[in-house]
Amino acid sequence: MVSGAFLVRSTPESLPVKSRKLPAAFDKGLKPWSSKLPRWAKMVCYILLSTLTAASLPITIAFSDSILEFVMIWGITYFGVSAEFVVGHVYVHDDFMDMLYNPSEAVDHDGVKFAFVHHYLDIRCFDKFWLEYRVMYFGVGTPNMMFAYPCYFLLAKVLSASYGFALALTLARMTWWHFQTVTHEWYHCPESKRRTYWFITRMIFRIAETMNIINTMEHKVHHKHGLNNPEDVEQWTDTWTFKFFDSYGDWIWKRLLEERKAGKKKSLFNLFETQLNFAWVGTIAVSITLKKLLSVLL
Ligand SMILES: [Zn+2]
Ligand SMILES: [Zn+2]
Repeated sequence: MVSGAFLVRSTPESLPVKSRKLPAAFDKGLKPWSSKLPRWAKMVCYILLSTLTAASLPITIAFSDSILEFVMIWGITYFGVSAEFVVGHVYVHDDFMDMLYNPSEAVDHDGVKFAFVHHYLDIRCFDKFWLEYRVMYFGVGTPNMMFAYPCYFLLAKVLSASYGFALALTLARMTWWHFQTVTHEWYHCPESKRRTYWFITRMIFRIAETMNIINTMEHKVHHKHGLNNPEDVEQWTDTWTFKFFDSYGDWIWKRLLEERKAGKKKSLFNLFETQLNFAWVGTIAVSITLKKLLSVLL
């Protein structure tokens, strides 16, 4: 049961601060993930993810026709994953708004609940439950996400007519998502616990931090807002990218808040599915177009 205050669709500004309680499910100590998988099975999934991540480098080398194509696969995929991250992140915060103000419309997704706990209840939940967190990003226990990689591979295969290139694109995407996942965990990990990371992982993250690809201090800006002002979110990216990506997140967020205030349903363009499909299909299309262009030029 959820407090009646949340059942009324209201503008955030019209709700008095005292009515902004947590959804009742969280008061009862609900775990932010409900995967029934035993720990050993999660561990097997994570070993598989780590192996695929390690294999992605030799596989992309093997299926690249030139160094430029290799750089292109990793570069375009990095920006594609950044775009997917921004889109996913904006919509996770939009779901937080539903959880707080309009729970009948909130999605029942473990990832969103986990993220809610991270933002408003226990900021350390990612590194405390690192295995659950990492396998969930991989799609374990979240059926709609489990189809993401096979779909990515199949579309890349259909468009490029090469199993090798489709595999390289899919594994590069998986690897950048793995990097995104551990980055957020790293941001909230105290220095003493960072020493428990495998030394290669630690080295990768220290180098990334030195190069400003990731920035622990900057991530604090994203956590400036709280339950009293969940609409005042800033900074949608966790890893370095062009300013445009963050501005795009701001723009979508503003549109979603305006539609929410007006009590309207989300317009087709503002639907999560539209935005996400645009990002991942776009990444594959740009990669394949550039591959064809490179094969003509070289
Ligand atoms: Zn966030
Ligand atoms: Zn965070």
